[in-house]
Amino acid sequence: MHNLITPDRLTEDQDNTIRPKLLKYFTGQKDICRNLEIFISAAKSRGEALDHILLAGPPGLGKTTMAQLIAQEMGSQAKITSGPILTKTGDIAAILTNIGKHDILFIDEIHRMNRAVEEMIYPAMEDFKIDILIGEGQAAKSLRLDIPHITVIGATTRLGLMSQPLRERFGIQFRFNFYTIEELAIIISRNAKMLGFGIEYDASIAISKRSRGTPRVAYRLLRRVRDFAYMHEANTISKEIADEALDNLGINSLGLDSEDKKYIEIIRDLFNGGPVGIETIAAAMCESSNTIEEIIEPYLIQMGIIQKTPRGRVLANMMHET
Ligand code: ADP
Repeated sequence: MHNLITPDRLTEDQDNTIRPKLLKYFTGQKDICRNLEIFISAAKSRGEALDHILLAGPPGLGKTTMAQLIAQEMGSQAKITSGPILTKTGDIAAILTNIGKHDILFIDEIHRMNRAVEEMIYPAMEDFKIDILIGEGQAAKSLRLDIPHITVIGATTRLGLMSQPLRERFGIQFRFNFYTIEELAIIISRNAKMLGFGIEYDASIAISKRSRGTPRVAYRLLRRVRDFAYMHEANTISKEIADEALDNLGINSLGLDSEDKKYIEIIRDLFNGGPVGIETIAAAMCESSNTIEEIIEPYLIQMGIIQKTPRGRVLANMMHET
């Protein structure tokens, strides 16, 4: 059941129709939108490609959507790939030799790109050139080819795993934040409209509260709630239907998943609520401290469930007792 609220992409999430297509329809991430508007209009008025952009933040917050929207706003094409798919330098060479001027190359999970591919991308990003090896063994020759001026947009959920040289090649870097309850409620209402049914505002808020500040989770829950509405033969989702559906789906009122719960239980039960160091928690969870810091903790901190103190992590509601 907790699959419903994991922010990672599932096959059932492949629905491109509901992605906002223009910056003005993108709800939330206000600072990013404001800056992008300026950079896009400046690049367009100079007739240049946008600088390379790195989008960092937890899964499901709209990084892919934003990349596609940037292409749309620039009037260019977006080629979409991802770090784990690019296994050979030939894969990236094939893309870069087939790309148009000012197009966008979107690389999802860029922290998972292998070293050889990463090194091929450096001159492509800096000088718009790639080095291709022709022939084999002694007779092999390296050929330097020009490629069009393009914009590489990288997305990562694990900024800490990216090499410094790769990070430095992105002139523009944005960090996505979790959405507020109100922002998510707006997205939910809009999604419902696009799916062809109505939803009362307080029903949108009820779904929003259990969506971990994440549009992908919100959309997934909305689809499930719609099934309940269908059962009740209701055209509009009321708060009662939303609450009944969410309770039936067994979703914790804070939208916590099993990893979050495990993390909280470790601090509460093994370490009496903390403070406890991140490495100790990592060892107890059999997880890397990096994953914990970048995937699990951001939402728990935002919700005020844990706090980072100089002596380690502390469960917030236990702080008063100690
Ligand atoms: P990421 O690349 O960060 O994992 P996606 O761009 O794939 O996230 O977004 C996940 C889902 O949430 C998509 O269905 C997308 O349409 C929706 N979404 C994300 N951000 C927004 C937003 N600001 N407004 C409306 N829908 C959004």
